[in-house]
Amino acid sequence: MRELSVYYCSKCGYYGYYQLQRNAVCPKCKVEMNALSISYQDFMDLSCEARDEMLSLHIIESSSPYVQRLLAPHKVNNNREIIARMGDRITELEIENEKLNQTIEWMHQTIWELVRKNKGMVPDDKTNSDKGIDP
Ligand SMILES: [Zn+2]
Repeated sequence: MRELSVYYCSKCGYYGYYQLQRNAVCPKCKVEMNALSISYQDFMDLSCEARDEMLSLHIIESSSPYVQRLLAPHKVNNNREIIARMGDRITELEIENEKLNQTIEWMHQTIWELVRKNKGMVPDDKTNSDKGIDP
C-alpha cells in the first residue's frame, strides 16, 4: 500500500491526505491541491497550531505577488498580525464594494429614467391617468 501524503488547497486552506496526486482535489474549490513536502506521519505529529502555521506560510508563498507583498513584513511566526492585515484589507474591499454598489444604484436610476422617457411614461402623467383625471 502506498503511503499517504498531505495535500492542501492554496485557495481555501483545506487539507487532506491522499495516496494519489490525482485524487487530491479540493472538495470546495474543485482545484488540484498542492503536496506538502512533509511526511504524513510528521504532519500528524504536529499540533494544530503548527499545522496552521506551516500551511499559512505555504499559502502565502503560492499566492499572487500582490498578496505576498501585503503579507511579507511578518511572514514568520505572526499569524495574529497576518489576520489583522487581512482584516484591514477586507475592510478596504468592503468600502470599495459599497461605492461600487452605490454607482450601480445610480446607474439603475438613470437607466430607468431613460427607459421611462423613451416610452413616454412620465411619472406625473401616469399618476393622473391612474386616477382617471384627464391631463
Ligand atoms: Zn479549496
